This record gives sequence, C-alpha cells and structure tokens, in this order.
Amino acid sequence: MRKNLVVAIDGYSSCGKSTLAKALAKKLGFIYIDSGAMYRAVTLYFLRNHVDTGNEDAVRDALQHITLNFHSRDYESHITLNGEEVSDEIRQMYVSQRVSEVSANKLVRQEMVKQQQRMGRSENIVMDGRDIGTTVFEDAQVKFFMTADPKIRAERRFRELQSKGDTTTTLEEVFENLAHRDYADTTRAESPLTRAEDAIILDNTDLNPAEQLEFALRLVHRHMPV
Ligand code: C5P
Repeated sequence: MRKNLVVAIDGYSSCGKSTLAKALAKKLGFIYIDSGAMYRAVTLYFLRNHVDTGNEDAVRDALQHITLNFHSRDYESHITLNGEEVSDEIRQMYVSQRVSEVSANKLVRQEMVKQQQRMGRSENIVMDGRDIGTTVFEDAQVKFFMTADPKIRAERRFRELQSKGDTTTTLEEVFENLAHRDYADTTRAESPLTRAEDAIILDNTDLNPAEQLEFALRLVHRHMPV
C-alpha cells in the first residue's frame, strides 16, 4: 500500500481539471502535476524538430533529447523543455492541434508514464490528465472523472485563449479541436481516456470552482490520516 496520497483527476479536454487540481493541491499542500503539459511540451519539441511519429527510431532518439521540468509558482504549473520556459507556448492552438497524435504514440506514453510515476513515488500529489486513474496510478486513493457540456467547455477555452491575446482562433475552431481531441483520446489503442471503475464522476456544467473544490475536498479528507 502506498504511503503517500495520490489524487488522480481524469476527464475530457477543457472541463476544468486543472482548475480543480490546482485548487486542491493548494488547499492540501500537495504537489500539482499537469500531465497534459508534458504531452504538450513533447509535441512542441516534435514540431520544432520535425520528428515523424511514424518513425520509431526518430521518436526514441527525440525522447532521449527531451528534459522536462516542472517548477511551481503560486500553484500555477510551469514547465520547461530543455531549460526553456514553454508554459504559454504549449497552450497555443498549433500545439493543441497536434498533441493527440503525439500522445497516442506508444513510446511517448511509456516515457511520460515512467516520469509521472517517479514524481508520485513518495510525495502527496494531485495529477490531472487522461490516464492517471487507469494507468499511471491505478492505486490512487482518490480518483475523479470530470466531464462538462461540450459547448460550455469550448466557451471556457475560447475565453482563456482570448485572455492570453489570441484574437485569431474562433469559437468554432476551439469547439472542433476539443471534439477532435476527445475522440482521439478516447479511441486510441494506448491507454485511452476512460473512467476508472472506482473514479467519482464530477460533471461541472453547473458547478462553480468553489463548489467543485468543496465536493472534492470532502472526498480527499476521508482518506487523510487524522
Ligand atoms: O490536459 P490537456 O488538455 O492539456 O492535454 C493535452 C493532450 O495531451 C490531450 O488532448 C491528450 O491527447 C494528451 N494527454 C494524454 N494523457 C494525459 C494527459 C494529456 O494523452 N495523461
């Protein structure tokens, strides 16, 4: 039995996983790990270096040249790719459009899962993603599976892009990207997005962040030593 507490948060694209994960980590003093940022950073590297995901040797070689590191500021997750801060770059649409293809690659997944498991070996963590409760930490004590109305999700992501200065991406493009990623993520051969049997479903279409946090905290507290 693991001694450290792991909270796994999986679910569809843009349904507020990271908002809840960050708030939980902050409240509990746990480490927050955004596993999607890792797949996004690998995608950025592949795009910049024209790595062909169909070429196993090229993928294996590229993975050996990628070092990812998280550093946390106020529970905002920041990630570096070979020492370069890429947290904003990896949220751009051109990365979102390719990330599901890269994350479906078996070698990429094997490497990321290995790194994620290492991060959760001894510390109390909250990790969000697509396969955290099913593959990375099957033995996580608390698992959530998040979902929300696709239109609401697209609107949220659209507003986020706009607030970051993206004035070219339309709401329709965001909606299509989310639908495409949901489809790709749930139908891929390697650890597809699916609800772990013991995951609690959290549909936040009509819940605000404070209500979600309260709901999640109640569950986590049941697993914490008194
Ligand atoms: O969480 P986020 O939307 O930033 O993740 C970007 C993409 O990374 C997802 O659409 C999915 O393809 C991939 N991903 C994954 N497994 C994870 C986290 C993210 O395949 N654990």
